[in-house]
Amino acid sequence: MGSLNMSREVRDVIGEQPALHRTAAHAQCVKCQSFLTPQDDVNVSALVGGNSVAVYFGHAACMRSTVTQGQGELQPVDQMHMSALLLRHNGNHRPVLVGELSTPMSGQDGSGVWFDAHKRYLSQEGFASVTSLADVAPVLPGYRGNLRYRAPGQPDGNTDELLVISPDGPFYEGTIRTSPSWLAAVRAQRQCTLYMGLVGLRISDPDSVTEHRRLREAAADGTLQAIQLPLAMAGAAFFG
Ligand SMILES: [Zn+2]
Repeated sequence: MGSLNMSREVRDVIGEQPALHRTAAHAQCVKCQSFLTPQDDVNVSALVGGNSVAVYFGHAACMRSTVTQGQGELQPVDQMHMSALLLRHNGNHRPVLVGELSTPMSGQDGSGVWFDAHKRYLSQEGFASVTSLADVAPVLPGYRGNLRYRAPGQPDGNTDELLVISPDGPFYEGTIRTSPSWLAAVRAQRQCTLYMGLVGLRISDPDSVTEHRRLREAAADGTLQAIQLPLAMAGAAFFG
C-alpha cells in the first residue's frame, strides 16, 4: 500500500480530507500523466486562487508537495475528461457521457469548511444527485451537445469531437472515443445522460463491462450528478 503525502504548507491549506484517498486513486500524475495506482507513493499539491483550491496529485518521484498561488478565481470546468458508455438497461441500450475533472476542486466557505466546489457549482446549475443509474435525470434549459463524428473505418474513426454548451457558454470542448453502437443509439434517441463525478474511467471503450461497473459503483457511492442532454450529430456518412 502506497502513502499519500502532504507537506505542512499543503496541510495548512486543504486540511485533513478523508475523501482525498479516493480522489487520488482515480487521479493522473500531473507530471508523467500516468494513472496513479493504490501501490504508488503519492504527493498532494495545491493551487490557490481566490476562494478556490485545485488539488493535484503526482508520484512522489515526479512532484514535490507544494502550494502555488494562482491568478484570480479558478474555473471549475478546466481540464475535464469525457467518456462515452453504452449502458444496457431493461433490454434497451442507453448512451451516456461521463465527465470527470482531472483536477478536483475544493472551495472554502465563510466558516472555513472545505467543500467540493465543482459539485456545488453543478448543484446550483440544476444537476441532480443520483444514487442509481436507473434514476431519471432532469433536462436543463440551455444545456445541449453537438457531436461531430468521423465515419468508422476512417483514420481516427473512433474519435469524435464533442461540444457541450451551457447557458454560461462552453461546458466541454474536446474529443471522445465512441463506437458504432454508441453512435447508433445517440442517433436513434437524440439525447444521452451526462454524468459528472469521480469515476476513474481508464479506457474509453463504450462497451467495456469494467467501465460500466465503475460507473454503477460511483452512483452507489453518491458521487454522481446527472442531467439529460439533447445531443445533435453532424459529420460524415453514417455506417452504424
Ligand atoms: Zn508521475
